Amino acid sequence: MNVSGKATVMKKLAVNSLSNRNRKSKSGFTLVEIMLVVLIIGLLAALAIPSFMKARKKAQRVTCIENLRVIAGINDQWAIESNANSGTASPTWAQAGSYFKSVPVCPTGGNYTPNAIGVDPDCSVNGHTL
Ligand SMILES: [Zn+2]
Repeated sequence: MNVSGKATVMKKLAVNSLSNRNRKSKSGFTLVEIMLVVLIIGLLAALAIPSFMKARKKAQRVTCIENLRVIAGINDQWAIESNANSGTASPTWAQAGSYFKSVPVCPTGGNYTPNAIGVDPDCSVNGHTL
């Protein structure tokens, strides 16, 4: 290899080395790109979380109302079997225990009041009514 051939090889090596360095510096994300991604994720979360919370609250209310419906049905069934008239005190939880597969619990932590026979049971949480 002559002198000009060596110089050409050296130039090619230098160009390759330079392009490798440039490629290294271009890999990864810039701070602005990462900030944009975080901003978009935050924006989507800000839009989605309130609707998730609203759907969760609605599902809890519907579950509680269904529990109240079950309690009312059990009160009626107990009244029929006990020949209890309307206005009679509802069965205690212990008396009604054999009618339940499991005692219903309000998903938001409310307390159930099984009212007298003929009156719908209540939950202590606002909006949880039959
Ligand atoms: Zn409730």
